[in-house]
Amino acid sequence: RFILGIDTSCDDTGVGIVELVPASGGTGGGVEVRANRVWSQTVHAQYGGVMPELASREHVERIDSILGDALAESGLDLTDLGAVAATSGPGLVGALLVGLMYGKGLAQALGVPFYAAHHLEGHIFAAASEEQLQAPYLALVVSGGHTHLFDVVQEGDYRLVGATLDDAAGEAFDKVARLCGLGYPGGPAISEAATRGDPDAVPFKEPLKGQKAFDFSFSGLKTAALLAHKAGAKPEDLAASFERAAVGFLVKTTVRAAEHLGRRTVVVSGGVAANRALRDAFAQTGLHVVFPGKGLNTDNGAMIALAGAAAIRAGREPSPLSVGAQAYAPLAQ
Ligand code: ATP
Ligand code: FE
Repeated sequence: RFILGIDTSCDDTGVGIVELVPASGGTGGGVEVRANRVWSQTVHAQYGGVMPELASREHVERIDSILGDALAESGLDLTDLGAVAATSGPGLVGALLVGLMYGKGLAQALGVPFYAAHHLEGHIFAAASEEQLQAPYLALVVSGGHTHLFDVVQEGDYRLVGATLDDAAGEAFDKVARLCGLGYPGGPAISEAATRGDPDAVPFKEPLKGQKAFDFSFSGLKTAALLAHKAGAKPEDLAASFERAAVGFLVKTTVRAAEHLGRRTVVVSGGVAANRALRDAFAQTGLHVVFPGKGLNTDNGAMIALAGAAAIRAGREPSPLSVGAQAYAPLAQ
């Protein structure tokens, strides 16, 4: 009934616990997040980017205590756990290996099944914290490394509908924030600055305008931001204008895809899904839009536990303990 989830795919050590709530009195049962603890590594700041070897070492040093914190938060004991899930990819191989090996070892020691989870499946199922997801639905994953639109035909059957041709959405937020001197991570910094800026101040052209496909591109917005910055645009105005352009483009493309495929429900997840303007814009579309709960947008362990819960619900077999870490692992072609 209690599932542990571990994510060490990049520079966050995440451990979460979810509870499968059994069906009762006409309700189909759901999943409840019982704990979600994340240690965001700080050693990388001095290098201006994630140092893979340092990330692995930090995971090794922290994972025990983060697990302890998660157990304390849930009020549970190790022996209460009925299954363990851990991210096997994609991500930094050395970093992934720490959580993957830890999860396998724990599952074996406890004598419970182990599930290897795909990091993007974790991001998608993070939204299951809010309501039970009923396939088919569209899933827009917008994070630091991905901008992917999937058609989830059923649990485990993902079709790629569109993807970024260059930068990921979160990466673009981070780069524009750096350009404006707003710090890292850029997403929250841009949002905050945008509240004090004029979204009409800097004109941005819609990327890939007129495309028949459902792809994304952020390099044009990034270049336009750079040019506006050089021309003396105020950081707040640039932030507000960029945010509106990026959000508008993400929403428009997703709505077009939903209409094309006849989908009524859209899951929007990944770090950028924390963005207020994006949430507000999706709320205006008339689609049924599901976002992850608080603290579940950026990398965390609970979302991996939720992916494990979905796998169990769908009757998937546990993963063999021989499963390895994969740096590159597309969820769908
Ligand atoms: P991936 O999952 O693709 O491997 P990641 O795990 O690094 O990438 P996440 O932790 O899911 O990415 O998300 C981090 C990204 O989300 C960063 O680029 C950050 O700027 C962005 N982000 C976080 N909060 C916001 C926000 N409020 N608005 C916009 N972007 C945001
Ligand atoms: Fe992520």
